[in-house]
Order: sequence, then C-alpha cells, then structure tokens
Amino acid sequence: MVLLSYPKPKMAALGMALHEIIYHSRNRREPSERSQLTKLREIVSQSMASNAKNGLTGFLVMRDDWFLQILEGEEPRVEAVYARIATDTRHERCTILRRRKIMTRSFQGWSMGGVLFTPEQQGIYLQHGISSTFDPTLLNPQKAHDLAFDLMRHEADQRRKAS
Ligand code: FAD
Repeated sequence: MVLLSYPKPKMAALGMALHEIIYHSRNRREPSERSQLTKLREIVSQSMASNAKNGLTGFLVMRDDWFLQILEGEEPRVEAVYARIATDTRHERCTILRRRKIMTRSFQGWSMGGVLFTPEQQGIYLQHGISSTFDPTLLNPQKAHDLAFDLMRHEADQRRKAS
C-alpha cells in the first residue's frame, strides 16, 4: 500500500473555474525495471512537489499494468502537466476519459496520492463492479472518478488508523 500526500495547495483564485482531466494509460515495463511499487513511488514523489507548486490535486491508481489518474486545478496548469505526462516514456497509450470544468476539487489536500492494488482494496473494486482484472478502458468517466475517490478515502482511513 502506498499513500503519499503533500501540504494543501493554494486554492484557485476566487471565481476562477477549475479544470479536471481523467485519463488512463498503459504501464511500459522495461526488462530491467525494478518493482512496480518503486516505480509508483518514484512517479508520485516526482509529482507531489511539482503539483503542489502548480496548485494541482489528484490521484493515481496503478493496477494490472494500467494507470488511471485524475488531475484537478487551474486549466492552463492542468493542461501543461498533462501534456508533459503524456510524453513520459514510462507509460503509453494515454487516453483522456474526461476533460471538463469543475466547481470543487474531489482530491483536496492530495497534491498527488498513489495506490498500487492490494487485496484489502478488493472490496472497493467489487463495489464498482470490477471483480477480476482491471481494465479502465471499460469504465465510464464518472465510474473512473468514483473508483479513484473511494480508493483515496480508503487510503486516508488506513493512514489515520496507522498513525
Ligand atoms: P523530466 O526531464 O521529464 O524528468 C525529470 C526526472 O524524472 C528524470 O531525471 C527522471 O528521474 C524522471 N523521469 C522522467 N522520465 C523518465 C522515464 N521515462 N523513466 C525514468 N525516469 C524518468 N508529473 C507531474 O508533475 N505531476 C503528475 O501528476 C504526474 N503524474 C504522472 C503519472 C504517470 C503515470 C507518469 C508516468 C508520470 C507522471 N508525472 C507527473 C511525471 C511527468 O511525466 C514528468 O516526468 C515530470 O513531471 C517531470 O517532468 P520534467 O519535464 O520537469 O522533467
């Protein structure tokens, strides 16, 4: 289980519309690659400082060689970070599920949280109708959002219990 968060980013200026991107992509495994946990940690720790600086929040799910990520913040910043992510060679086939204006953040306080699948999360996946392998191409955007949101809440609970 991985839980990484960072101090809350500054709120967008009052009245400024927020923007959300939800995308999925395929993990690109290199023959020499270390564990998936190491890879996720590397990506999340790399993202946290940069996202906090840019006022971005979101969550990254990694399971069965898929990534599912939600990014929230001011539109130009979300788009700029997504453009950078989309060219990262650690993954491929980046596909946007939803790009829209939002009124509030769902992942407030998470400059980037990331989770790798653990058996404890199985119940959450089952609640979202995912019983065996994870294939985010089969999810509609709202289901993808709600799954990531529930995984984030689960991780926050786990962390509270552990502290
Ligand atoms: P770069 O010059 O691209 O990279 C800086 C450092 O990143 C490198 O020195 C290296 O340590 C590492 N790195 C970059 N590419 C690779 C690679 N192919 N293999 C191994 N190491 C590499 N960034 C964010 O800022 N916010 C996010 O929310 C975010 N989410 C991501 C989600 C996924 C699934 C992936 C794969 C990447 C994500 N990234 C995110 C990372 C992003 O793609 C960029 O690598 C990062 O933002 C740094 O970009 P840069 O141009 O400043 O530096």
